[in-house]
Amino acid sequence: MGLIPYKNEVYLDWSEDKNVESMRAALKDVGSRLGRSYPAIIGSKRVETNGEIVSVNPANPSQVVGRTASATEREANMALDTATGAFEHWSRTSPEARARILLRASAIMKRRRFELLAWEAYEGGKPWAEADAQVAEAIDFLEYYAREMLRLGDGVEIYSIPGEESRYTYQPMGVGVIIAPWNFPTAILTGMSSAAIVAGNTIIMKPSEFTPVIGAVVAEIFEEAGLPEGVLNFLPGYGSEVGDYLVEDARTRFISFTGSMKTGLRINELAARQIENQRWVKRVIAEMGGKDAMVIDESADLDSAAADIVKSAYGYSGQKCSAASRAILHADVYDEVLDKVVEKAKDLKIGDPESADVNVGPVISEPQFEKVAGYVDVGKQEGERVLGEDPGDPQSGYFISPTIFEVERDATVAREEIFGPVLSVIKASDFDEALRVANDSPYGLTGGVYSKNRDHLERARREFKAGNVYFNRSITGALVGVQPFGGFGMSGTDSKAGGPDYLPLHMLARTVVERF
Ligand code: NAD
Repeated sequence: MGLIPYKNEVYLDWSEDKNVESMRAALKDVGSRLGRSYPAIIGSKRVETNGEIVSVNPANPSQVVGRTASATEREANMALDTATGAFEHWSRTSPEARARILLRASAIMKRRRFELLAWEAYEGGKPWAEADAQVAEAIDFLEYYAREMLRLGDGVEIYSIPGEESRYTYQPMGVGVIIAPWNFPTAILTGMSSAAIVAGNTIIMKPSEFTPVIGAVVAEIFEEAGLPEGVLNFLPGYGSEVGDYLVEDARTRFISFTGSMKTGLRINELAARQIENQRWVKRVIAEMGGKDAMVIDESADLDSAAADIVKSAYGYSGQKCSAASRAILHADVYDEVLDKVVEKAKDLKIGDPESADVNVGPVISEPQFEKVAGYVDVGKQEGERVLGEDPGDPQSGYFISPTIFEVERDATVAREEIFGPVLSVIKASDFDEALRVANDSPYGLTGGVYSKNRDHLERARREFKAGNVYFNRSITGALVGVQPFGGFGMSGTDSKAGGPDYLPLHMLARTVVERF
């Protein structure tokens, strides 16, 4: 196929009036469509369920964004049957034809970009630039995985011995269950689903119960792109109600999960159990939480370091698995960096992401608000709060102001994933100690070092225990094809989404040898 080389989608420039106007128009248009109902999509059927998920705007919880089906075992069973049936045909469709569907979905997303951003603002509580980066990432996943499938379509080179031909190719696996989180409801859902589909598998796509309407929009885009019926079965539902059933079923071949450590470990455990009629070892691709650290040494450019700590800690209210939630500062520069971080964080504008100038929106849900508020209480007892206020009434929006605690390294707030705008600042007496503190976590997703000292950077290059390590820059916003993403330790199976090793996780490798 004659495709232009892959490159990342360019972000929208918000200093251009036409972009601001298009976003306002999209907010108005999507705003007039709030409150609609979205059924499950199983094969050719729109399926209603007895229960429903009511999705609300986290900046204004009395506003219903939409109502979706809430799947039970009955619909999960239908979806598994349908996906199993559709696998026969889809697995024999050529890699080129499969890739073209992704390219068409990408083109649709580009055309519907502002609409997608508006859904992100209403349902995800995302400020405009954050929403845009995420929709650009979804487009990148589609473009990148389409090209990856073309690269792998005929297999890869291996050696043969004299008189024989050895071939090494990839084939689809079967039915995949795609279980997504709410924090990148367009990008991660699109990325996990498109990789599984382009590899020739059929899927059950389960979005998070907090962002099911965006899930419905993504499913609709794949349908519009011409994906045959039954290849993608859209199954909104509560993880606690359908999750175990989908994972345990003998028809499930693999599970692609992104979410919390607790859920990921449960899925891993259930998937490992052999049940009646099961004919394979289920594969689990799991990307989980983080407690990501940025180390600032005494040689660093302190202004840039402070700016990037603020960016990494408070982008999307700290609700990124890659977010900086620990800043480990060398004692010589501790006070100066902390002052700069506090000053810069004070400039952030908190509010409803419907407005163009908001940097920090709400957290996603009432349970998340209560959880983060609980950690704020704990942090106040464990250390000194140098920035932030007590959270207000959640009924007027799930807002939590950027918060900073000065704490010891073993404080609860410095160890557990909070997933909100809360940063723990820790003092280290030298670089050795700083790196030791950074690595002293069961997680290992992202990490960063700010330094002009070559020895420090080279040591961190070897020893920083994280799947994605960044020097002298922010630690969030991994670019597809440029910064393949995935964590060590309890952060997951290191699947490296957006990288060259990702698609083979969704396929079986076959070796065929012929002697002549
Ligand atoms: P979560 O674990 O609560 O939910 C994730 C998904 O799992 C949802 O769709 C949920 O419905 C489903 N689920 C819940 N119980 C289930 C069960 N028993 N069986 C099957 N599915 C079940 O996580 P969340 O709150 O949606 O997302 C936030 C978490 O995701 C954070 O820990 C964050 O660090 C992590 N995350 C990781 C990455 C990464 O790439 N490593 C990216 C984004 C988010």
